[in-house]
Amino acid sequence: MNKITEYFGTMVFNDTVRKKMLPPEAYASLQETIENGRSLDISLANVIAAAMKEWAIEKGATHYTHWFQPMTGITAEKHDSFFSLEKGTGRIIVDFSGKDLITSEPDASSFPSGGLRATFEARGCTAWDPTSDAFVKNDTLYIPSAFCSYGGECLDRKTPLLRSMQALDLQAKRLLKHFGLSPHRVIPMVGGEQEYFLVDEDVYHLREDLKITGKTLFGAPAPKGQELDDHYFGVIPFKVKNFMTTLDRELWMRGIPAKTEHNEAAPCQYELAPIFTDCNRATDQNQLTMDIMKKAAKENGLRCLLAEKPFNSVNGSGKHNNWSLSADGKNLLDPGKDMASNKLFLLMVCAVMKGVDNYQDLIRISVATAGNDLRLGGYEAPPAIISMFLGNRITETLKSFVNGSSVAAGESQQLPLGVNVLPQFANDGEDRNRTSPFAFTGNKFEFRMPGSSMSIAMCNTVINTVVAESLCEFADILDKADNVDASINSIIANVYTSHKRIIFNGNNYSKAWVEEAQRRGLLNLSNTAMALPHYLDSKNIALLGKHGILNEKEMFSRYDVMLDEYCKTINVDGATMVHMARRQILPAVLAYVNELCNSVSNKEARLLSTSVELSISTVLNDCATSIFEESEALSAMLESASVMTNKEERAELFAENVIPCMNRLREAADKAECYVPKAMWPFPTYTEILL
Ligand code: ADP
Ligand code: MG
Repeated sequence: MNKITEYFGTMVFNDTVRKKMLPPEAYASLQETIENGRSLDISLANVIAAAMKEWAIEKGATHYTHWFQPMTGITAEKHDSFFSLEKGTGRIIVDFSGKDLITSEPDASSFPSGGLRATFEARGCTAWDPTSDAFVKNDTLYIPSAFCSYGGECLDRKTPLLRSMQALDLQAKRLLKHFGLSPHRVIPMVGGEQEYFLVDEDVYHLREDLKITGKTLFGAPAPKGQELDDHYFGVIPFKVKNFMTTLDRELWMRGIPAKTEHNEAAPCQYELAPIFTDCNRATDQNQLTMDIMKKAAKENGLRCLLAEKPFNSVNGSGKHNNWSLSADGKNLLDPGKDMASNKLFLLMVCAVMKGVDNYQDLIRISVATAGNDLRLGGYEAPPAIISMFLGNRITETLKSFVNGSSVAAGESQQLPLGVNVLPQFANDGEDRNRTSPFAFTGNKFEFRMPGSSMSIAMCNTVINTVVAESLCEFADILDKADNVDASINSIIANVYTSHKRIIFNGNNYSKAWVEEAQRRGLLNLSNTAMALPHYLDSKNIALLGKHGILNEKEMFSRYDVMLDEYCKTINVDGATMVHMARRQILPAVLAYVNELCNSVSNKEARLLSTSVELSISTVLNDCATSIFEESEALSAMLESASVMTNKEERAELFAENVIPCMNRLREAADKAECYVPKAMWPFPTYTEILL
């Protein structure tokens, strides 16, 4: 099987397999659930389980697992064998019932619950999500599942995402009715572009920070960075090519349509873009993609770094979440030929605009982690300020509803390449803005803030929900309107007037924008500790409650888990730094200072000048002092943080004291690195890792 058409999707229990293996009524019922969101007829579970089991065993599976996404953002699985011993005879029998397919009871106590599940009530419950395809990987049938406590509170990322899709479907249909449309389903579609770094496993193993935290915590910039721009779309090195071959094959077999892979702007950085699919599948596929990337890297003598900022002063990695809305296959964010008269499109844009402006905090929080804080606002990454790029044409069109002027329907233009043999094609009439955190890109919005290691479940849950809320408000108005057309015009005009502050078509990386955003009253939640408390603002609790996404109890628990996760991450980073400073960096710096001092004595005896040795040893001795003092201070701070009981105060301590101390420690160590001989430095430098 070497042709992609022969092996694409072979490890997925997909529509073709279902059609072939299920009795017609079971197939039809399951299809109703998958396509139209009807609840599943449980009486058919045994039939479906039997077919799934037969298919999986055929593919070499011996085990099955409910595969779920606890609030840690990574996936969890608990493997059970398909086989059991027959009572009486002791013979091996294959055993997988409808009940096994639908639910399982993993011990929930090892997953974060933010106080939702007392330890005495450790049981959790997973429930099969039939709308995301089961697949086989490493001898195991993976069954995508939701995860909740025994009391029914959700403990995962999938459940709120599915709830948000349901809310959006409901509200979008209410609005579409006024356009004479009644689709079966309105589904958010997502394509998540994934950035990552690949490093050689030999250097990886020599760095504690890479091994423990997945990123470097020390390291002076290499003399040559990305300034020459020679990496982007450059020649893909050999080991990496092999990695990509492994990766593609593994992804394609699991039905994940990975499309483009090319070098990113930074050295050793790459990107993978899958073809978009519904938001739930896209989220599962992205989780699986990250797993497979790590495995494929190992198989090819590499390590895949998914951390948001693995190297200082080099681009970070993000995930571009491309989002659109599909009504039975019609993209509601497609402006069509004549955008100005496409009121449905304009209303959709307004819905996103209003949602993003009203819930900047929730959107920011949906991508807030300690790791992503290091990236946002940094080199080649959007700032922590939420704004939207709509481009001039859309902005002018919306504005025309306010002042009653008319805009000329924008003509797309032939791209003037100036070479006759090249094909002529039209551009889409609008240039791209690559600096915007939330950019309209032709027929979709591209949300560029998610970090590379994050699940995209939460940001999509928030986007779906805030858009559902806008659509709900629009539908409420139109349901009561005498003149629907006039009402639509006034909705567009009102949204533009009230929310135009969120539109920013300029350069988001500039300092001027930070000031301008402040004048506009936009939030600038520069770190997670600042952002998280807004999660529990009453307007946010009201929003998520109204649309049935999360109740107040579930929100408090999530808030706790996020705060905890933030502190834990920084704690591990800090402890790793202390460890490396004390046991590797200081000994190396002091050894070299000692060597220099010995040299000074020897040279003085021969009446030679010792000024160079003295200068370097003075610089390094100062570095050593700072490294010692800062690492001691850091260690003490981590100690005191560990006994703090107030979670907000703890997070604040990490943001305001621990991180600055880590930065000072790093600065001193990185300076020392520039003077200590290569052979004496205790681990590989950026030059050795990246170039
Ligand atoms: P661009 O170069 O315009 O960013 P690409 O074709 O590279 O576009 O697509 C980027 C990502 O956006 C891909 O993952 C793609 O599948 C996804 N995408 C394209 N169209 C849509 C859409 N209508 N809705 C959601 N995602 C989309
Ligand atoms: Mg893109």
